[in-house]
Amino acid sequence: MPRPLCATIHLDSMQHNLARARACAPQARVWAVVKANAYGHGLERGVKGFMGADGLALIETENALRLRELGWAKPILLLEGIFDASDVPLLAEHNINSTVHSIEQIRMLEYTQLYRPIDVHLKMNTGMNRLGFKPADYAAAYKRLRAIPGIRNITLMTHFANADELEHPRLSIAGQVQRFVEGAAGLEGERSLSNSGGVLHQADLQAQLQNDWVRPGVMLYGGTPGGGRTARDYGLRPTMTLSSEIIAIQDLVAGDTVGYGSRFEAPGRMQVGVVACGYADGYPRHAPHGTPVIVDGVRTTVVGRVSMDMMTVDLTPVSNPRVGSQVTLWGDGLPIDEVAGMAGTIGYELMCALAARVRVTEG
Ligand code: PLP
Repeated sequence: MPRPLCATIHLDSMQHNLARARACAPQARVWAVVKANAYGHGLERGVKGFMGADGLALIETENALRLRELGWAKPILLLEGIFDASDVPLLAEHNINSTVHSIEQIRMLEYTQLYRPIDVHLKMNTGMNRLGFKPADYAAAYKRLRAIPGIRNITLMTHFANADELEHPRLSIAGQVQRFVEGAAGLEGERSLSNSGGVLHQADLQAQLQNDWVRPGVMLYGGTPGGGRTARDYGLRPTMTLSSEIIAIQDLVAGDTVGYGSRFEAPGRMQVGVVACGYADGYPRHAPHGTPVIVDGVRTTVVGRVSMDMMTVDLTPVSNPRVGSQVTLWGDGLPIDEVAGMAGTIGYELMCALAARVRVTEG
């Protein structure tokens, strides 16, 4: 018998969320972002769930090649581009579209003979100050790229720092778009600006957000990029349910404590259930007392510290708890963002941190 911990990936919800992204930005083609092992869902599931996307975007060249092995024949985009000149021939060979964000990457392309044309995304740094050419340097980078034989389409690209908020006091979407438009003035090419936040705000920013391609990630996995609204508010469905079982029950009396550090003290007679899931599985160790879990369909809470392989939950609201009672840690009926929020992190991190040892099924 395997350990009862399991992540169930809902392929139909992945398709549903992709359809939501398309409905938000109907004019644009969609790069479904499958970096970080498809946000913890597995590359194979990314390929299956986002079969209907126009392209898949991720980070590593070797994973781009893996997508080809998995049968993905449509475009692939490397979101950070190549890391070494030896990868340039792979772009041509496997028809991989690369982001270009630095002079070093332009040099790699200049020095390598391309025997087949490739497409690139030229990234502008419009204020996030992570990757890309500053608006003032963008046209020069574009011209240098354009002069390289074998470069076919150049897509004009930027990335939003605060797309979850319509109006950020320091760096708004509108402010970034304005820099983008100025820096890209007169340059020919399709445009790719929006991540999930930008896609979800497409309707509010119709005039500014003229995307030919969008790059949603977290919304496709039923998570919200933030900004106070829940995934359900946006019509998104959870794509990963992490479930387990109660493997032991402890009867406590007032003053008994639970787990490492004896953080939780029973206020009176009560039962706690031990769940087969811990931080080595990707459940956040910092989830405090009060973090929601569902036991046999009833919402209750984490008590005590989460340990490596186990965690403990309050069984008080559960009518007939037993060893084998079903536990949902997040997913169906319990938004991952809610659990993440309690633990002081974001749904993105929980999905990506799902440990390799967790059994994954589709359903
Ligand atoms: N585009 C780029 C360049 C990214 O780095 C990311 C993720 O960080 C995304 C799109 C997807 O972002 P999100 O998951 O917020 O939709």
